Formats: sequence, C-alpha cells, structure tokens
Amino acid sequence: VGPLEGLERATIIDPAAIRHNVRTIAVAVSPAKVMVAVKADGYGHGALTAAQAALDGGADWLGVAHVTEAIELRDSGIETPILAWLHTRDTDFIAAVERHIALGISGWEIEAVAEAAAALQTPAHVHLKIDTGLGRNGCPTEKWPELLRAAADHQERGLISVEGIFTHLAVADEPDRRETDEQLALFREAVATAEDAGITPDLRHAANTPAAMSRPDAHFDMVRVGVGVYGQSPFADRTGEDLGLKPTMELRTTVSNVKRVPAGQGISYGLTHRVDRPTSLGLIPLGYGDGVPRIAVDAPVRIGDRVYRSVGRVAMDQFVVDLEDPETEVQVGDDAVLFGGDSGLSAADWGAAAQTINYEIITRIGARVPRIVR
Ligand code: PLP
Repeated sequence: VGPLEGLERATIIDPAAIRHNVRTIAVAVSPAKVMVAVKADGYGHGALTAAQAALDGGADWLGVAHVTEAIELRDSGIETPILAWLHTRDTDFIAAVERHIALGISGWEIEAVAEAAAALQTPAHVHLKIDTGLGRNGCPTEKWPELLRAAADHQERGLISVEGIFTHLAVADEPDRRETDEQLALFREAVATAEDAGITPDLRHAANTPAAMSRPDAHFDMVRVGVGVYGQSPFADRTGEDLGLKPTMELRTTVSNVKRVPAGQGISYGLTHRVDRPTSLGLIPLGYGDGVPRIAVDAPVRIGDRVYRSVGRVAMDQFVVDLEDPETEVQVGDDAVLFGGDSGLSAADWGAAAQTINYEIITRIGARVPRIVR
C-alpha cells in the first residue's frame, strides 16, 4: 500500500508538522499565550485532529467562529479553554455556558448570554470584541462605553466574567500599512476605557498569524493564530518555509488516464485551451466537486520528479495536465501531488493559479476527499 493507503484520492494530514508550527509560533511570541484557530474544520485538517495536535504543540486556547464548532470539540473530550466569537439569534448560549465555552461579545449577545447564565446560575465567560477598523464583527467604538456599562453591570450581578478583550486586524499581512498602527492605538484606548469602567481582564488579544510574526507590539497577552499553524505564510512575499513552518496538508491522488493527442486538440468544457503541438495529457481525478477551484489555470501538479501544469477548465471531478511529450513516461497509476508533503508545491501556488489565497485552498477541500492522518 502506497502513501494513499489504498484510497483513490486523499489529503494527508501531518500532526507532527502542526505541533512543530505551534511550537515555532509559541517561541516567537513568548511570553504571550497562543490561541489556535481550529474553525472551519481546523482549516480543512479536521477540527479534532488540528485541536489535539495544537494542544500537543503547546496551544493554550482554541478559537472557533461558531458555538456549534466549540460544542463538537467539547463533546469529543477537549477540555482546554475555547473561545467562539460569531453568533446568531439562534446560537445556543445555554449549551455554550454549560460547556464552559467562552463567548466573544460584540453587542446584542451580552443580554442573551447573561440570560443563559441566569437560567443556569453559572457565570458565562466572555471576551469583549471591539471593531478597531476591520468593519466586520466587533463593537463599534462609539458603542463601546455602552457595552462596557452592560458588561460591568452583568459582571457585578455574577452573570458574566469578562476574561478577555480583543480585536481583529485588517491588513497585518501587509506589514508596511499604517492602518495596523491605528487599529492597535484604538485597541489600547479601548482597553484603557474598560479599565476605567472596572473591567480588567487578563487576556488582551489582537494578533492573527501575520501580526504574531511581524508585530511584537500586537502580541499583548495572547495571539490568535490559524494559517501559520497550518504551515502557510500569510505574506505574499514569503513562503511558509521562509517562516520556519512545515506543510501540514498534502493533497494527492494518482494519474487516472494518459493519452496521446495531436496538435490542435481542445481540452475540457468551453475548449478554452488547445494544445499547439502533439503531446500527451494526464488526467487528474480531482475537480471542483472536491474543492479544486474551477477557475485555476496553469496550476502545478507533481508527477514523479517533474511538475506539470493544468490546461483547460477544471471540471467537477477531474482536470487535465499537459505532460509535454507524446512519448511521456508518465503512466496510469503514477502518484500525483497537487501540494504539500515533499512535493515542493504549496497551497499558495494553487492560490496564485486560482486568484485566491492559500487559506481558501486548504479550507475548501471537499468532503468527497478522504483524510489520512499520518
Ligand atoms: N482571529 C479571528 C477573529 C479570526 O477570524 C481568524 C481567522 O480568520 C484568526 C484569528 C486567525 O487568523 P490567521 O489564520 O490569519 O492566523
């Protein structure tokens, strides 16, 4: 049995690499704590696999978007502190408080969470989130005093315990941009206002992976890192390897067909590509139904000791690479690696071919592709 362990296609997840990456980041940000984002199924690695590896690598906290994601981890036996920060009116705050899941609060949630805590007669652990410029989730600065008053009030009544204040950065992946300085200044002000209102949590946190790796002044008490833990660089001009990180996910399959074609052969729907010389084509049995972006062109695939490029549109189940030789030695059954492992290819290369970023490539691999945990 080869690396695919008898499967036709798979992502191969490397928990040792996740552990290494967490340790690398933890050393870089020490003495700040490390929260590892395991939302979106652990950025496509499997939430529990990612969470376990992150904790083994020294993570102090886990972070998710939705309470449902946190509940899944709790119900799988994860007892570490978890923060969930994106809620709707249908979020089950009772289930969250019962399971000691900390809740990010941007505004209206504070009343719903206090109500759940009152019903359970247990204080809810909350982290107040301020929008310092991302313009997304988080309390707008003009409503911050009002949120602080509500928080102080509920805290006094024993309904909540504010253990954190946080914000999220918009352009930390572009270290020269001044907006990060502005966001951090606003964050410091928001923390000071909270202190004046009697709210003095231990955990102030602002940094995502790019800020954790480029802005010590953004570390505060804890960083919240995702993509770096998964071996990916958030910077356009540096690779994961440049940052001392190891790839954690390999996407691989085998060549499912090889055929010789004449010059002029059109390829895939729309016939957007025609070969300009006699060549051979290799068929790769992964498509947009598996999360390979349909828009990708000229995307790399390692077969043996060479890298070939995709031609024509990616279809639902398959795409084609030009093997660049009518007499190719590539055969049906040869290993084909899209990225990761020791292929020398990265999710960022696929991101570049598909007008997107590595984050999206690793997170969108579909349920039809089985996962092997090494
Ligand atoms: N914090 C929050 C609130 C997030 O939404 C995310 C992910 O988008 C992260 C931290 C982790 O970001 P990154 O993967 O860039 O480290």
